[in-house]
Amino acid sequence: MRRASTRSTHWDLVVVGAGPAGAAAALGALHTDPGLRVALVDRADFPRDKACGDAVAPHVLDLLAQVGVTGLLDDRVPVGRLRLGRGGLTAERPMARPAWVVPRRILDARLADAAVAAGAHLLRHRVRDLRQHTEAVVLDGRIRAAAVVGADGAHSAVRRALGLPGGPVALALRGYAPVPPGRRGAQVIEFGTRHQPSYAWSFDRGDGLANVGYGETLHPGRTAPARARLLERLDALLPGAAEGGRQWVGHHLPLSTARWRPPAGRVLLAGDAAGLVNPLTGEGIYYAVATGIAAGRAAAAACRDRRPERAGERYARATRRILLPHLRHTALAARLARGRRTVEAALRASAADQRVFDDLVELGLARGRLTPALAFGLGRALAASARPTGPIREPA
Ligand SMILES: Cc1cc2nc3c(=O)[nH]c(=O)nc-3n(C[C@H](O)[C@H](O)[C@H](O)COP(=O)(O)OP(=O)(O)OC[C@H]3O[C@@H](n4cnc5c(N)ncnc54)[C@H](O)[C@@H]3O)c2cc1C
Repeated sequence: MRRASTRSTHWDLVVVGAGPAGAAAALGALHTDPGLRVALVDRADFPRDKACGDAVAPHVLDLLAQVGVTGLLDDRVPVGRLRLGRGGLTAERPMARPAWVVPRRILDARLADAAVAAGAHLLRHRVRDLRQHTEAVVLDGRIRAAAVVGADGAHSAVRRALGLPGGPVALALRGYAPVPPGRRGAQVIEFGTRHQPSYAWSFDRGDGLANVGYGETLHPGRTAPARARLLERLDALLPGAAEGGRQWVGHHLPLSTARWRPPAGRVLLAGDAAGLVNPLTGEGIYYAVATGIAAGRAAAAACRDRRPERAGERYARATRRILLPHLRHTALAARLARGRRTVEAALRASAADQRVFDDLVELGLARGRLTPALAFGLGRALAASARPTGPIREPA
């Protein structure tokens, strides 16, 4: 991967973090203005690993196509089925569009390569300090930019420098383990019974291994569970999933809320740095790419108009349109998912009706809403939940 010299210190746009949000920001900016001088700064060398379930919604590829990146995962095998379960209840169906399971070591390096191919300069540097001046933003006293996108993940230094507080978080652990026959060709999610939302997963990568893990919301006042405890929960919910597992790594997930608003000014935040992980599912790559592109576009348009200080306003307008209603709906859904009866009703309704299943997947993976079909299906399943039940499956 081509890297630029850290001696070039004056940029139109500096993107801090070259994960999905950062690469997408560079792509969005250069698609808007190919002549823009864009630095993509990361503390790590690529390829690099990242704790993740590696599940990539097809919508991510739609977004990337809008900024000229196509064929990114053509050599990977998509996964067509999703199995949702909780305590013996199961809803297993084909997804409306297959999803992908791509180790982040591969996905992120390809995204960073695409950004470099579009004209971004990749710099290896750990950002520690950010100062806003009237005419520019200065990073670590020597990297100067008209605008900055902070895409530096869950523990963002840029967010800290802006003095913004963190929000609710989840903690999750992932590893790679051989896929047992019963879980091949599928993404399997088994919801937990406490600390909701929580679940264990097994996502078939298509090469004999599955990405397996367990994550739960961290509630204030509770001590974060240790790695052994997370592994224990994984094994309890998906017996055998962790067997032969390797490369265990855990990380925080900054969960989105209904009150999400981006800051004004020259410094924008995208992806995890902006506190954007779906509180229902832990999905963050879609948000990272969506907000990365929006931030890059906003910054490029503001620079083109010689008003980089207006980048934040432009970004707020764009994200309000693409994200805010969805964030309200996921916040409500995550609150509802704390109740055992609601989760079970969602499974029953999904097992009974493909449309409910599809709408639920859309809500969890991309920009879906609590649709009338979903609300009606849930209501009906809740009303029926007093009746005796057993395991349920999609009709053959
Ligand atoms: C265990 C786990 C499972 C998950 N499963 C899924 C899943 O299956 N599907 C999904 O969509 N999402 C999942 N997520 C969420 C997803 O991983 C994140 O939402 C996503 O990585 C966000 O992308 P990002 O570009 O914002 O941040 P990151 O991917 O974290 O990238 C941030 C980049 O910034 C760099 N950086 C950090 N600090 C600095 C600094 N000071 N200076 C320079 N560079 C810096 C890092 O090296 C990194 O490359 C999961 C998360 C966890 C923890």
